[in-house]
Amino acid sequence: MNSITRPAHERELWGHPVGLYVLFFTEMWERFSYYGMRALFTLFLVAETTSSNAGFGWTNGEALALYGWYTMLVYVSSIPGGWIADRLLGQKKTVMLGGALLCIGHAILALNSEMTFYIGCFFIILGVGCLKPNISSMVGGLYKPKDERRDLGFYVFYMGINIGGFLAPIVCGYVGENISWHYGFGLAAIGMFLGQIVYVWGQKYLKNVGNLISNKSAEGKELLERKLSPIEKDRVKVLLLSFLLIILFWAAFEQAGGLMNLYAEQKTDRNFFDLFVIPASVFQSVNSFFIVTLATAVGAFWLKWGKKGKESSSIFKMAVGMVIMALGFGFMAAASAEYDSNGSSAMYWLILAYLFHTVGELCASPVSLSFITKLAPLKYASIIMGLYWAATGFGNKIAGLIGEAAQDMGEFEIFAGIAVVWSIIGFIVIAMLKPLKRLTHGAEDMDVTSTIES
Ligand code: GLN
Repeated sequence: MNSITRPAHERELWGHPVGLYVLFFTEMWERFSYYGMRALFTLFLVAETTSSNAGFGWTNGEALALYGWYTMLVYVSSIPGGWIADRLLGQKKTVMLGGALLCIGHAILALNSEMTFYIGCFFIILGVGCLKPNISSMVGGLYKPKDERRDLGFYVFYMGINIGGFLAPIVCGYVGENISWHYGFGLAAIGMFLGQIVYVWGQKYLKNVGNLISNKSAEGKELLERKLSPIEKDRVKVLLLSFLLIILFWAAFEQAGGLMNLYAEQKTDRNFFDLFVIPASVFQSVNSFFIVTLATAVGAFWLKWGKKGKESSSIFKMAVGMVIMALGFGFMAAASAEYDSNGSSAMYWLILAYLFHTVGELCASPVSLSFITKLAPLKYASIIMGLYWAATGFGNKIAGLIGEAAQDMGEFEIFAGIAVVWSIIGFIVIAMLKPLKRLTHGAEDMDVTSTIES
């Protein structure tokens, strides 16, 4: 049967199920709304109440504290989001619910009051929790267990995330900073609305994916009652350590939307050859820009590296990613030193920092999720996926706390401190590689799908 005469959910485009592109555009717009709003978040909170584009007039510390809580809860809400999908609605309907909550939440932020700001954030937290973890799992569900196209599917999906993450801070950031914060938030709402339209329209391509599965089957029961084997117990130990690495990674990385965003606004000379001033929020798109442009090169590097027979376990890549990301903070320390002596610092420090952060992300982030799925005992599969997102959330909370600490300790000290401490953490993990790999009992060498579906 050729692709056109097949039922919609079996149709393919450019070698992948059409459903992949539905999920791609839905997530692209969801991330557009998330990163568009996030780019404005702290800048809006600290903007003077008397300015023509008024904010709440908060201190940096107060803004970073709320930023930490908000970005933590956005990801921790993946746990109830995953539970709703597993037990009540299935992933597909939970994503739909999440999309609706996000449209409402972002639209509420377009209104101008402190109360509506909190209510809008609350809806967004619930919405991301329902949408983000479940749409990612649905990508895996588009492919049969042994389908080799799965990794490429995730790669395409990740590009969608970052196209949204690239465009949003430019569009929402420009409008938000230069015209009205609330118009910027409103644009994020329009983006999410477009995503929801794509998702509703694309349901016919997603017939076989993300449906509620009854887990009362005999196989399921047997699985849950069985005790963990010693090998599985060892793997859980490595798993816990990798969660710690994930928390630490994002705790440093996620300075981006908080402390580094405020740094761009308050201390960076953003004058572009005397032609115009670049809005601070635009720097929030640099990470996604580098992801889209460098992902293939970093992937190809690791492939070549592995083919030469060199160390290429996931833990190694996570540790290397940690060190490279940490080095990026060296540039931020240099920027702070320049600010302390000149009263402003150059834009290229921020760009260099984001470049290193992105290369670190490209080494660590794609492997960490698949590593976790390989190590997780089947009976904990859903819980572990929820914990993975929650770990990202805790990282975001710590990021907020570190940002707050910088208000008293000074930015140079914090940026230099992250560069040093996080590099040391990466090197310690590299030094402990052998025993850690032993505890995985070859989980990386076997077929991913024999444990759980990503
Ligand atoms: N940029 C990626 C996304 O939005 C990763 C975010 C994260 O895990 N903190 O999906």
